[in-house]
Amino acid sequence: MITGAIAVMTSGGDSPGMNAAARAVVRTAIAEGIKVFGIYNGYKGMLADEIVELNSRSVSDLIQRGGTFLGTARCKEFKTVEGRRQGLDNLQKHGIEGLVIIGGDGSLTGGSMLSKEGGIPIVGLPGTIDNDVWGTDYTIGCDTAANTAVDAINKLRDTASAHRRIMIVEVMGHTSGWLAMTSGIASGAEYIIVPEVKYDIDEICEEIVESYNKGRRYTIIVVAEGACSGVGLKNVVQEKTKIDTRVSILGHIQRGGSPSLEDRIKASMLGERAALAIISGVNDVVFGFDEGKVVSINLFDSVNNKKPLDPELVRLASVLV
Ligand code: ADP
Repeated sequence: MITGAIAVMTSGGDSPGMNAAARAVVRTAIAEGIKVFGIYNGYKGMLADEIVELNSRSVSDLIQRGGTFLGTARCKEFKTVEGRRQGLDNLQKHGIEGLVIIGGDGSLTGGSMLSKEGGIPIVGLPGTIDNDVWGTDYTIGCDTAANTAVDAINKLRDTASAHRRIMIVEVMGHTSGWLAMTSGIASGAEYIIVPEVKYDIDEICEEIVESYNKGRRYTIIVVAEGACSGVGLKNVVQEKTKIDTRVSILGHIQRGGSPSLEDRIKASMLGERAALAIISGVNDVVFGFDEGKVVSINLFDSVNNKKPLDPELVRLASVLV
């Protein structure tokens, strides 16, 4: 049971809804009569003692904003025992008894090491547009990012159709095809290429040529960056089909923007749960969603397992795409 202070931080890649989650942590802690500190700029800020006490007003006018008001960073020093020791010393200096970390797989792994070595209670919230954290079917920001990708693909389809082009759309996802798969299905793409599923580019190109010979006006291929580079794929497809092929790399626009309704609500629910849990003495868990309900996942299980791409999405794509 915590009676003094907790801290909240965001780390790794930012995602829309991190603000809503941090806001919920801060306001819940204050409602419970617990002090709450914000750690700015991820583990880098923890090591540099960028740790500031927050109040309810510190998180006003934030729920609708993308990014993270706490800032985020990557920090090599935190991967060393000495680095983590320094971070822990700074937390202790401020009387922080527990920590809520909002971030992706890497950030939660860092948190699990801090907990193991330093004995400080940690609660993690999955914040990443990739939706690739084990044990939860939702991560903060994935819904906004997928909607941004769908919106872009809709626009690219108009211009591809006008010119009878093949349009390759590269979306984010180094090891996870969730974003490509969901945005591809939702935008009616003709092909979706993801790291988790084998594909045959010769077969795809033959099918495309055949469909254009029958009068087709456009083809959309959505590719996750980790499966193949969009530019590389464009060169191969253009060469094999002899059809005018263009590539659009959506890049960082997928991370930004005002969070969707789903991201605001779910991030708020997770933030409240995280604050209540850490205050009541819960340790080493990640909160996520399973079939619409908040669930707790063991932190070490979450970071030591790789989440597979939902086979139901793969099956659906094989029928509809
Ligand atoms: P994400 O949290 O989005 O997956 P990263 O993988 O870049 O992003 O991780 C963010 C930060 O978390 C890293 O810069 C590092 O400080 C910390 N981190 C990542 N992996 C580890 C690890 N194995 N051990 C300790 N800290 C880690």
